[in-house]
Amino acid sequence: MNVFDRRESEVRSYSRAFPAVFQKAKGSFLYDTEGRKYIDFFCGAGALNYGHNPWEMVKAVQDYLAEDGIIHSLDMSTSAKRRFLERFEAVVLQPRGLDYKVQFTGPTGANAVEAALKLARKVTKRANVIAFTEGYHGVSLGALSVTANSFYRNEEFVNRLNVSFMPYDGYLDGKVDTMRFLEKVLADESSGIDLPAAIIVETVQAEGGVNIAGIEWLQRLESLCRRFDILLIVDDVQVGCGRTGSFFSFERSGICPDIVLLSKSISGMGLPMSLVLIKPEFDQWKPGEHSGTFRGNNLAFITATEALRHWENNDLSEAISRKSEFLATKLECIRQAFPNAGVQIRGLGLIFGLQSSIDGLAKRASLAAFDKGLIIERCGPGGNVLKFLPPLVIEDDVLEEGLELVKQSFEAALA
Ligand code: PLP
Repeated sequence: MNVFDRRESEVRSYSRAFPAVFQKAKGSFLYDTEGRKYIDFFCGAGALNYGHNPWEMVKAVQDYLAEDGIIHSLDMSTSAKRRFLERFEAVVLQPRGLDYKVQFTGPTGANAVEAALKLARKVTKRANVIAFTEGYHGVSLGALSVTANSFYRNEEFVNRLNVSFMPYDGYLDGKVDTMRFLEKVLADESSGIDLPAAIIVETVQAEGGVNIAGIEWLQRLESLCRRFDILLIVDDVQVGCGRTGSFFSFERSGICPDIVLLSKSISGMGLPMSLVLIKPEFDQWKPGEHSGTFRGNNLAFITATEALRHWENNDLSEAISRKSEFLATKLECIRQAFPNAGVQIRGLGLIFGLQSSIDGLAKRASLAAFDKGLIIERCGPGGNVLKFLPPLVIEDDVLEEGLELVKQSFEAALA
């Protein structure tokens, strides 16, 4: 028995879906110990928007280490953190007219979710939070309370209280106006739903099956938050940092959330790092009131600063938009090539979901893709949606090659 099966906890998951021992990675490719090469359409679940080991970030890390740059600093001020904050302000906040204080939390997405929920409750002095059907915000207990999937919400985990779930955009049949329901519930003192401290939303539900909230729906959500003095939290952990084409996923709707959560690709090369962006008037923490040992990953500050270069002009956004169209066209070809597979396609920027009405098809296609040298994961209820998350910087020919492998995998899965 190999050491993973012998020693690693049963909780491991992706190593079961992709049973190789990976050794190296560069750009859009992963390599295993047998020297097999895989195209990566999974990208660390959105943590590798700029691909694996981008040379400029690797170089920045090497230079920093060669100078004995500080690695761990709790939340003390460091030159690496200063440079990151200055560039984040200049490249991301100021050009968008956004004014946020930056809270560095522990390095996972769930750490940022925990901090945001806690702060919203502290600011409003209310306990309830509204989250949405099929939403995913992580699995630590506070984050789990706003995560919808019952597989994670196992009742034995107990602490899932003070949250009301409302239907996301399109949750019913696409014709029912779910925002009207939310409005009614908030306005009606007899709805049984306590006025919440915050509403937490993903503008595109990634784990939930690539469900995309409409622009008007998001704008109405923001208006409701203003009307009832509720803090609007946008969880941009998976679809922020360019995944939908703009730096923040909410830019397409013009809304201005009170709190924004970033993690995964914020460090640029997969180093752990998370941010909670807070409108200054809501930054009501007392010094040290929310804490954590790993809030100062200086290596991540170095690579995150380097990653921001991608946002100094519109080149990346334009490239994403071009690749997005190509991806959509190719997926449409796949849909037409398999008329009996009941395929539906949803997507924005470089996150797409391909859902089949045939139960288990996505799973078989993902396994077949792995055999052919493509890493692609599933999402959505029952894992029935193939999720396309290629690097934003993927070369056109590699994107095309990966999509050809998807087509072949579909053929194999249907055989
Ligand atoms: N929020 C969203 C939208 C996510 O997609 C995820 C993880 O996939 C999280 C939060 C939790 O992040 P982490 O797994 O780093 O705790």
